[in-house]
Formats: sequence, structure tokens, C-alpha cells
Amino acid sequence: MLEIRNLTKVYKPKKGVPVTALDGVTLKFPEKGMVFLLGKSGSGKSTLLNLIGGLDVCDGGEIIIKGKSSADFTQSRFDSYRNTYVGFIFQEYNILPEFNVGANIALALELQGKKASDELINEILAEVDLVGHGSRKPNELSGGQLQRVAIARALVKNPEIIMADEPTGALDSKTGKQVFDTLKKLSRDKLVIIVSHDREYAEYYADRIIELADGKVKDDVEFDASVGAGEAALEYDGGTVTLPMGYHLTEADREAINAYMDSLKDKAMIRFAGRGQKFRKTDESQVPAQDPSKFKLIRSKLPMKSAFRIGAGALGHKKFRLVLTIFLSVVAFTLFALVDTFSAYDHIKTCTNSLVDSEINYASFVKSKFIDEYQYWREYGCKLKKEDISSISKKSGVDFKGVYVPDETLEINEYVDPRIFEENDYNIYSTSFSGFADITESELETLGYELSAGRLPTAENELAITSYLVEIFKQGGYAMLENIEAEDGITDQIITGYEKITKDSDMLDKTFRLGNTEFIVVGVIDTKFDLSRYKTLTESTEGDSTADTLINYFLFNELNFAKSYSFHNLAFVSSDTVEAMITSEYPTQSLSYYMCFDSQGSEVWTSLDTSRFGKYDDLDLERVIWLDGKEHTSLGENELVVTADTIYSDAIFKYDENGNVIESDFSQLADCTFGGYFEFADGSFQRLEDFRVVGVIDNTNDTKGETSPSSVYLCDSIYSKLFDEDCVGEYEFAVGIMPEDKSEIKKLVTACYSEADGIRYPMKNSVTYELDTVNKLLEELAKVFLWIGVGFAVFAALMLANFIATSVAYKKREIGILRAIGSRSNDVFRIFFAESFIIAMINFVLAAVAAFAVTSAINSALRTEIGLLITILTFGIRQLLLLLAVSVGVAAVASYIPVKKIASKRPIDAIRDK
Ligand code: ADP
Ligand code: MG
Repeated sequence: MLEIRNLTKVYKPKKGVPVTALDGVTLKFPEKGMVFLLGKSGSGKSTLLNLIGGLDVCDGGEIIIKGKSSADFTQSRFDSYRNTYVGFIFQEYNILPEFNVGANIALALELQGKKASDELINEILAEVDLVGHGSRKPNELSGGQLQRVAIARALVKNPEIIMADEPTGALDSKTGKQVFDTLKKLSRDKLVIIVSHDREYAEYYADRIIELADGKVKDDVEFDASVGAGEAALEYDGGTVTLPMGYHLTEADREAINAYMDSLKDKAMIRFAGRGQKFRKTDESQVPAQDPSKFKLIRSKLPMKSAFRIGAGALGHKKFRLVLTIFLSVVAFTLFALVDTFSAYDHIKTCTNSLVDSEINYASFVKSKFIDEYQYWREYGCKLKKEDISSISKKSGVDFKGVYVPDETLEINEYVDPRIFEENDYNIYSTSFSGFADITESELETLGYELSAGRLPTAENELAITSYLVEIFKQGGYAMLENIEAEDGITDQIITGYEKITKDSDMLDKTFRLGNTEFIVVGVIDTKFDLSRYKTLTESTEGDSTADTLINYFLFNELNFAKSYSFHNLAFVSSDTVEAMITSEYPTQSLSYYMCFDSQGSEVWTSLDTSRFGKYDDLDLERVIWLDGKEHTSLGENELVVTADTIYSDAIFKYDENGNVIESDFSQLADCTFGGYFEFADGSFQRLEDFRVVGVIDNTNDTKGETSPSSVYLCDSIYSKLFDEDCVGEYEFAVGIMPEDKSEIKKLVTACYSEADGIRYPMKNSVTYELDTVNKLLEELAKVFLWIGVGFAVFAALMLANFIATSVAYKKREIGILRAIGSRSNDVFRIFFAESFIIAMINFVLAAVAAFAVTSAINSALRTEIGLLITILTFGIRQLLLLLAVSVGVAAVASYIPVKKIASKRPIDAIRDK
């Protein structure tokens, strides 16, 4: 059945010398009978038992089980071998404390895939004389009883071998004897291998005694009743009668004993001596040869229910840590769920619904480009091309018109009495045009607008204004200007008073200087703007509640969008005029920010301030003063040509008392190098150094518009990085009429917000503003939450891993026991999976509740704060599934390593709690 050859085990402690615990032991065990491994402490008994029991692995030699060599056994085969053939009994009983006696046995049964019926359990308990103890808790039993439970458990799988390591070491001699009696009974048809250092017991019970010393077999004897039969005799000594085993009392003996006892009264004892005399050298040739055909392994399988029971049992052992772990996980998972909820926000749907509900009757959009570097949509500096407008018009079915906004201001407040601005918090009137657009009679008709005075503009300096714009003049009058001749011969205009305006036609023939052009009003268009809607804004805000203030704020916001992006505030000119304005633009491109080049190394402080950039091709070469006197044919990497108005320097200009330049000496510039921070179109910033000015355009005394002002010309390569081709266009925004039909609105919103190549066309009105803000907020929050969530999740995973690790440490012994009674490492996985799963489920439920609560809170906040009547965030099945996946995933990842470690441990190390 069992044979070992040349078995060697060397312990190699981390420090200190290696210990040869077993030194080439060769033995053949019989099919049945009681074999004692005897020897002094440290002689290698336990080591030998652990090796043949498959609890530990050897360093040399082999174990042959049913004719199969263990040399090529894997850990899992050893597990199965133990499960199939070996019942283990430990000195410390190793009964699972959280299971009662019956359940301990049931677990062993279940590991064998057997059904644990009460009858069967009682039957097994009967074998160890413990009938009726099934419902007892381990801590209610005595040591001897516990050891018999352990034996019962070992019997469950009806093993062919029972191994016991000092099974009575913790018991008194009486209960110890009960245990040995039980084992002796079992040895009738099983091989029972017992480690003991008690020679007396060994000689009393053993069928064979193998004595070890220093890891070697010192002696190996087997019981033979015939040995020394004749020599046996009674011994009388010190009140004790010693009786050899198997000795038959004769009549004479009986009389002698009785006489001896009488003489000592009741102090006399009868002792059975060991059978030492009845042993002879073991003859291993009598051990039958092994039959490998019988070798068959049974794999254990821990039922999920028991795994959960053991798993849950350990949850309470570190309560604070558990709570903290769960708390962190819940925070992390809640954040994940929110991220997903945020990303699930459907901008197009929400926008459409909100626009349907709103009273906004114009539609307008701008262009925005996604800046990869900073992950945001940039609108400023991005203009619409004609193609952009026609493409959105085609996709949406809405007729859009491009609005041109020149670099110059379109403010007209200088034409209005400034005193009217002093009264109100909110100015609901318009004091500047939002841009230029052309308009035709038929368009006017389609729009449903009318001329309330005059006609549409036809000539280049003609203008039609809106009735809405007229409102400010109705309030503040139109400035009456008078030319006066100043002393130095320059004509100046002064305001002599304000002409009262009462109706639209009063504005005809009035003039506005916009940019460099003087426009004359030839018509007024009534765009049916409902200004009364905003009248409350002009009322006193005294005594307003917070709610009123908020309402006013949103109302004003709405008005401002209408002012900036609808028809109501446009300057209408002929289409030729718009074209002319576009073509007469400076060849340079304006920056959306102001840029300053500072000088390095010059003695006098000099700087270049610019808002426009051009390249060599944009230069008016006639006007360039080349500082080295030679005409350049291109601009090098470090070369700049600048207009004089960019230069700030005391060394170059001499000023009169009025601050006018009277003399300039540009040659000084040649000595300076400049550096500046560039913000490139891709969103990146870079400081570039060592620029030199190689040419100047002296525009000091230019009349307005003659040359591109405040301009710096530089090499093509830098220029092309400054301006994004996609964002170079003519129109600031496009405006049309909002469709009435919901599906039409959806088409429009879809057209505007569908992004392609990092471009989209955000709509501009108060609703989309709010929703864009919400969208942006959600996108930002999603990003932030994601990273915080990842941080928490990592932390939670570490905590959980740590928790499982302590749990593993805590359960090491139990795992060892389970392993010893035959469960595979897979079963160990199950236990901790169960534990993690329980934690994961707690996390899942709590996180789901938290995420749901936060989502609802955000929804209601958006509703009350922004007044959106639409549910923005939906927390649904998808988020629940995500949460579930994340919870289980994190738990699995967190428990994998610690469990893997323990599961792959040798059972003996687990039992020994190493
Ligand atoms: P016994 O059971 O006969 O008392 P063991 O088999 O436990 O003896 O030990 C045999 C020898 O191996 C002893 O010298 C002991 O110190 C050593 N030993 C046992 N287990 C280990 C171990 N895990 N690490 C190092 N040395 C060990
Ligand atoms: Mg020992």
C-alpha cells in the first residue's frame, strides 16, 4: 500500500545551518495494523509522517502509493491523495471551531461529495463512541472527545490509512487510552500510523514499532506473540504486579496474586507490562506487493454553502478595518457610478427637450474646436467658414446666415445720453451691434420681420437697424454733434445735446461710425422682439428675494444671448458691404489674446506688444524699413518685422509733451533680442527666444485702417502653428430661425453637436448655454470623479487585499485543517472568494444607494438652481451593472494575490501557521 524509498528531508532555515530531519529512510508499510513511529523529540517522526501524508514535500527519495511514485505528484495530486487515502489526526484536534461536531463531520463528508445525512453522521459518531454529540459545539467537548471527533472526521472518507501525530499528546492517560483504543479498533482493517514518544503505549498497542533517531531508522520491530512465550513470568515489585501481555494465568498465579494483594490490602495494583519481549525484527518481505491498478484519486469539492459559511465567519474579526474598507470601496464605486451616469447624459436629447419647452425663437451657432492638449472645446479664436454654415444649414434644414464681426468695436453708446445708464442694475437695451449681416426682402418675409421705417440698405455705407436697437435711443436720445475747429487745425466733434427719438422713423438718416466707416441709417427692421419679457429687470431690485434675484439673473442671461446671437441686434447691410468688409480685412490674423515680446540684453527696456500676426507674404514690402538696409526675401526662424505701434521703448522714440512721437530711431532695435510666450493653436504654450527685429513698418502717422495695426510678422513655420486652419473663417456666428417642430429641433441640435474631426458647432442661446454649462460641468466632474474614483479604488483594493490577507492569516490554520482533511487549494479559493463576494455585495448595495442618492440630488439641484424641467441624469440598469462588475472585479483582484499565496502553500506550513 505504502512504501518509501530513501526519503530525505532537509530543512533550510533562513538563517542557521540546514537540518537533515530525515536521512534516507526506506520503509514498506503493511496494508493494515498499527504502526508506531517512535523516537526522541527531534528525531524526525513528524517530518516522516508529514511527508508520507503529503502535507510536506521531500527533498529526496520517493513515496510509492499503490504502486505509484510520488516523484511526479503535483501539489493538487497530493491533495487528492490525502483526500482519497489518508485520514489525518493532529495533536491539537484541529476541529473547525465555528462548526458544531455534526457540521465538522458533514463538511468532511461534503468534501468527499457525499451527502451529509444525520444518520450517516450518527453512524460515524458511533464508531468513536460519540453518539448524540452531533449538535455540540467544539468548545463544549473535552480533549478526548475532540480527538475522537477528529478521528470520526478522518473516518468519513473511509481512508485506507490513518495518520496521527501524537494524538494523545494533549490528553491525560485515561482519555489518551480511549483514543488509542479507538485507533486500535480501526487498525483491524486500516493502516494506522501513529507518531509517539511514549514507548509504553507503543509496546502495548503496536503491531510494529519503527524507531527513529537523527532522521534514520534506528530500530524496526514487529509484534510476534510467539516471541519469548516461555520466559514470561509475573513480577512482584513495590505493590505492583507486572503481567506480560498475552500471558495466561495459571491457578498458582491467581493464588499468588491474591495473596500478594491481600498482604498489601487495597494498595496493590496490577499492571500489564509492555510487549517488548514479544517483538522481533520486522520482516518487510511479508508485506504484500502493491497493486497499481487500484490507484484511483478522488478530488475534493468544498460546497459553496460551506465556503460562504467559513468565509462569513471571518468577516467580524477586524470590524474597524472591514468598515473602513467598505467605506473606501463604496466611495470609489459611487464615484464610478456617477462618472458613468454623467457620461450617459444625453446632451442632444436634453437640449432638444429644453428648446422645445423654451420660448427661444432664434437659432444660432458658433464653431468650436477640441484642444487635445487640454481636453476642452475652444470657441474663442474659431470662426465659421461659408462651408460650415452651408453644411449645418443643409443638415438641419434651417437657413443660417453668417454674421460678420470686425475687429473694431461695434459700440454705439457714445451716441446715447450716458446718464440713462446710471439708473438700473440691468441694462436691457442694446448699446452695440452684435455684428454685420445682409438681408433681402424675401428673407425679411420668411423671417416674419417687417420694415418699420425706411428701406433695406443697398449702398456700401447704408445700414438698417432693428427696432430693438432704437429702444436705447428712445431712452437716451441721439447725440447731436457739432464740428469745432481746434487750435492746431484739427477738427473735433463735440456733443451739443440729445435729440429726442420717439418712433423708429426718427432714426432714419442718423449716422454711426463703426470701425473706419461712417454708416447712415436707411431703414429700421422690426424683428418682433418681445422686450416686455425683460421689463421686470428694469424695476427696482430692492426687497427682492433670493429667488427673484436668481430669476432675474437667468432672465438677463437669456436677454444677453438674444442680444449677442440673434437677429434682434444685428446691423443689416447690403451683401456687397459684408463681402467688402471681409475682403478688406488685414492680411494678418488677430490673436484672441494679447502678446508681449520682452527684450533681453538691451540696455533700455524695450518690448513689443502685439495682437496680430502675419507672415512674409502678408507684408506690404514697400513700407518695410529693413534695419540692415537690404531687402529680405523671406523671414528666418528668428526674424521679425514689426509695426512701429508694437514698440514700447524710450530709446527708440522721442516724444513731445503731449506724448506724440516726434523722432524715432529704429536702428537701436537691431541690438535687441526678444522672447515671448506663444499659445499655439493646439493649445500648447511655449516660450520662444532670440527673436530679432529685422524690419519695421513705421505706421506712427498712419490714418486708421491703412496698415494692419500692432502687427508682428514672423516666419511661416511659427505662423502656421499659431493659427489653426480649421479656425480661420469669416463669420463669428451664424443665425437662423428656430424650427417649431420637435423633430426639426432635434435635427438641428444633432447637426450642431455631432462632432467630426474635433469640430462641433455649439448653439448659442440661454438654454444651450445652461445645458452646455451642465454638459461641461458633467464632463469635468466625470474626469475628476474618474481619477478620484480610480484613486479610491486602488486604495480600496489595497485595503481589501490587506483585509483578505489578514483574514487569510487568521484562517491559515483552518485552511491547513481543510487541506489536511483533503480539500484542494481550489476549495481554499472558494472560501475567500465567498468572503470577498460578501464584501463586494455589501459594497455594491451601498454604492448603488449612494450613487442613486447623489444623482437624485444633482438632478433636483439643477432643477431648482437652473430651472431645468428635465431630468438630466439617469441612474439605471446600466450603472447598476457597472457597479456590480466593478465591485466583484475589485474584490476578485484584491483577494487574488493573498489567497493565491495561501492556496499554494504546503498544507503543513498552513497548519503550522507559517
Ligand atoms: P519529531 O517530530 O521527532 O520531534 P521533527 O520531525 O519535528 O521531529 O523534527 C526533526 C528535525 O527537524 C528537528 O531537528 C527539528 O528541529 C527540525 N525541524 C522540524 N521542522 C522544521 C522546520 N519547519 N524548519 C526547520 N527545522 C525543522
Ligand atoms: Mg513531532
